[in-house]
Amino acid sequence: MREKDRTELKTKEMMKEFREAGLREEILDAISEMGFEKPTPIQDRTISHLLASDRDLIGLAQTGTGKTAAFGLPIIQRVDPRSRDTQALILCPTRELCMQITKDFNQYSKYLPKISVAAVYGGASIETQIRALKKGVHIVVGTPGRVLDLIYKQCLIIDKISFLVLDEADEMLNMGFKEDLDSILSAATPERQTLLFSATMPREIAQIAKHYMKEPEEISAGQKNVGAENVEHYYYLVHARDRYLALKRISDVNPDIYGIVFCRTREETQDVADKLIADGYNADALHGNLSQAQRDQVMNRFRTGHLQLLVATDVAARGLDVNNLSHVINYNLPDDPDIYLHRSGRTGRAGRSGISVSIIHMKEKSKLRMIEQRSKIRFEQKKVPGGINICEMQLFNLVDKVVNAEVNKTQIERFLPYIYEKLGDLDRDNLIQHFISLEFNRFLEYYRDAPDLNQNIETRKRSDKGWEKENFRDKSKGQKPTRNGKFSRFFINIGSRDNIDKPSMIKLIAQQLRNRNIEIGKVDLMRNFSFFEIDSNFENEAVKAFSGAEFNGRPLNVELSNREAFEPPPRKKFKRK
Ligand code: ADP
Ligand code: MG
Repeated sequence: MREKDRTELKTKEMMKEFREAGLREEILDAISEMGFEKPTPIQDRTISHLLASDRDLIGLAQTGTGKTAAFGLPIIQRVDPRSRDTQALILCPTRELCMQITKDFNQYSKYLPKISVAAVYGGASIETQIRALKKGVHIVVGTPGRVLDLIYKQCLIIDKISFLVLDEADEMLNMGFKEDLDSILSAATPERQTLLFSATMPREIAQIAKHYMKEPEEISAGQKNVGAENVEHYYYLVHARDRYLALKRISDVNPDIYGIVFCRTREETQDVADKLIADGYNADALHGNLSQAQRDQVMNRFRTGHLQLLVATDVAARGLDVNNLSHVINYNLPDDPDIYLHRSGRTGRAGRSGISVSIIHMKEKSKLRMIEQRSKIRFEQKKVPGGINICEMQLFNLVDKVVNAEVNKTQIERFLPYIYEKLGDLDRDNLIQHFISLEFNRFLEYYRDAPDLNQNIETRKRSDKGWEKENFRDKSKGQKPTRNGKFSRFFINIGSRDNIDKPSMIKLIAQQLRNRNIEIGKVDLMRNFSFFEIDSNFENEAVKAFSGAEFNGRPLNVELSNREAFEPPPRKKFKRK
């Protein structure tokens, strides 16, 4: 057998499952060029369904499981290139996804008679998009807001479409596109086939399905735990205020880290990224407040490996297709376990192993347990690395780099005599020491006397006092005037340790004051003691009211609290209107 025949046979063999699903040879050739060999689980079940049936479909599968081709390949095959009508409308949440899907579709249809695909999204000139649509477009890929504008302007006609796809439906809802979606779905011809793809299935999605889909077939392919075998889940327990320091240590102990740091809000994203940049890390922020040019630039730098850490919101990270992340870092845990899975599924892809890290504080432990139960994964607690570990890691890394550096003799030859002369006085040991110090002093300096950041019972106990003071100071800032004047603050010698909660504390105070309708202000419950406020006009009554009183057999001690000790420095007086 000739070599050519053999490779052809081999390609045929490889594409067998795609072929059996019913895809045309032209499409098989195109996707084979894209490196596809066999269908992913969601493709396996979706493609043959969509080629053979008009029934609506819900596809649930995590990011990165090939959903675009799952709906894209059969749509490309079923579009009629001879007609000028728009036959498919794909809705997705972001401009980046629109462009990605459009690019993918163009590749799939490379060997077919011309099928035109247009991307329409907000933040770009609507005129240009209108001109493109006027030429007649077979497939439109767009964000809901812009699509709706174009429908209203009657530039986009959707009464002849055969396919309406909601891609990343959950994310579109998160971004507030619910009403736009409702309008588009009700405007589109009822003759269409509706396809909904999502990584998660919240109630709102189920409602959309119920409203706008006809007896949809539900296909869920490895939605849970995709790639989970390859992902290890670690958590670090720290005080909330030490989150950022912990993040720094985690990246310092992994010198070659390449990961996404997930934050909750745009502000937090920007804040963390700014700090990292100021501290000399190779990081940047990706969130919705950036202009599109800025976003493109950040994504490009990250894709090409010029950035090591991308700090991002869930939504902004959606458009990003990167397969070789070493770490996913949850700077904050998401409330929804599915979102956690979704985030962590971004590492451990393509057969590589990945690490998903969560930085949490004590109160978030229950969230962790919930994610474990719902998602059937196990978290392993890790200690935040100390200064010594980090210095060691960085040192090994540096030495490794030196050993592996490529030496280009001819290029450096001419400089060598000078270098030999200059370094001639240093012996081998000295030379090594100097050289290491040059690169390494920054870390040594920073991590000398670095405190232990791990939050455990021990450190917590020791810092309880400081914490309570801080907490108290914080609260007293927001002190409000009473109806009749000011509040006065009192100390009382019982706290949460005595099995009392806020409502019972308020009840106790009211009882002692004989319920004389004296206004009670804030109650700050501490572990061993507490503070409460009452109308200043009744200061003396309060102390008297508690004299001789007991709580569970313990004599109560109430004193006017020492304001000076706790109150913040006087602030500028603000004018009352
Ligand atoms: P999703 O929409 O589920 O997040 P994508 O459709 O963006 O995933 O696909 C993720 C990546 O996997 C893309 O780079 C895509 O080209 C690639 N891919 C998709 N299907 C296959 C396949 N059958 N074989 C190899 N690579 C694939
Ligand atoms: Mg997708």
